[in-house]
Amino acid sequence: MPGGRVAIVGGSVAGCASALAAHRGGADEITVYERASGGLADRGVGLAVHNDRYAELESRGFLTAAMPWLQLSRRRWYVRDGSAPMGRLVGTLPFPFRTYNWGPLWHELRARVPQSVRFRSGTTVDRVELAGETAELMGSDGSCERFDAVVGADGYRSVVRAAACPGVRPTYAGYLAWRGAFPAERLPQAELWPVEDCVYAVFPGGHAIIYRIPDGRGGHRVNWVLYAAPPSDHGLPLDSPTSLPPGTLTDTLRAHALSIAGTQLAPFWGQLMHLTEPGELFIQPMYDFTAPRYATGRLALAGDAATVARPHTGGGAVKALQDATALESALTSATSWPEALTAYDASRAPAGRAMVELGRALGHGLVQETPDWSALDQAGLEKWWQQADGSGAFGGRGIS
Ligand SMILES: Cc1cc2nc3c(=O)[nH]c(=O)nc-3n(C[C@H](O)[C@H](O)[C@H](O)COP(=O)(O)OP(=O)(O)OC[C@H]3O[C@@H](n4cnc5c(N)ncnc54)[C@H](O)[C@@H]3O)c2cc1C
Repeated sequence: MPGGRVAIVGGSVAGCASALAAHRGGADEITVYERASGGLADRGVGLAVHNDRYAELESRGFLTAAMPWLQLSRRRWYVRDGSAPMGRLVGTLPFPFRTYNWGPLWHELRARVPQSVRFRSGTTVDRVELAGETAELMGSDGSCERFDAVVGADGYRSVVRAAACPGVRPTYAGYLAWRGAFPAERLPQAELWPVEDCVYAVFPGGHAIIYRIPDGRGGHRVNWVLYAAPPSDHGLPLDSPTSLPPGTLTDTLRAHALSIAGTQLAPFWGQLMHLTEPGELFIQPMYDFTAPRYATGRLALAGDAATVARPHTGGGAVKALQDATALESALTSATSWPEALTAYDASRAPAGRAMVELGRALGHGLVQETPDWSALDQAGLEKWWQQADGSGAFGGRGIS
């Protein structure tokens, strides 16, 4: 184990998991720098974790049954069919996933970060530089500190990646995700929709994925994501990565989502967008990229700082947690930081690339070049999905 002083930039999923990994991997002193000053737990909506990936991450001590989850079993694909409330069922595919509410999941991960880790909330890192056998970190408070290694867990606009792999820029995929979540009690005739069903409400040029998540207090929230191209007058600076937090969505973008809900989705699924209050709705433009390396000198990248795959992969949070398991393994078996970071890069760079490729392939089939859904039946859907997910990596690959 190389020991030493480690800085982790970002205290979200990848940051908390990396802090845990560095602690277990024997780092002597760990500091997490997180830009947000309050807790992150009151933000976020839903995410899903494949059962097999959960089992691996549980056995490695990064997820536990104490994190509130809901078990789903199947994906039902619906296409609008006149006034039929749910639409026509195109077909059913397995969906062995647990769903999570991002906030409580992050809260539990944060609680597992050992007390010995210095967690500096409200501290923004402005710049990181390689400095011989160390890395230097400059804070927005004017501080400058040296570390044996810096892990960039600072998301898709990472400052650590800017130092490790300058020139890598997220690329806009040409469409948006409108996301919302609201208390399940608000949903009329909820009994029409079994709790174990994840729904794909598909239409030409996009789809909505809809599932319930735990609310963290014993109840459920309805979570949905609508993928489609924006209207031409969207007014967003989409060439540089951007996101609009809940409550700040423009009227034009809200009206566009409601229009899709009213004209492209069957009534039961379309109503979900109307039941979502403006403060519960936000958009996330779709970007993807992969850094060529997960480690350079004394800098390492984890989670979205290293690669962003489109959410169709069902594996964003899993990828971030798997990065942490790989960091822990590399630190545990290496005797120096260069050795550990070389092993980390070798183990995670191919996995990151594979997920980005899968996200592009699924985005192509589910949004950009959609099949004629109205002509598909169960056999047609199975055949189409096999082609779309050619690698079979939906939900993430196993830890290698
Ligand atoms: C508040 C929040 C809510 C989210 N909700 C969901 C959700 O509901 N569903 C879902 O699928 N995904 C959600 N995500 C994204 C999800 O966490 C990631 O896609 C994935 O889990 C990988 O996480 P990450 O830690 O790599 O990146 P992120 O979760 O994006 O975390 C990056 C962290 O780095 C911090 N940071 C960035 N730059 C700096 C800097 N210069 N100095 C210091 N700190 C910095 C940010 O404040 C942030 O906390 C959310 C992310 C955040 C931050």
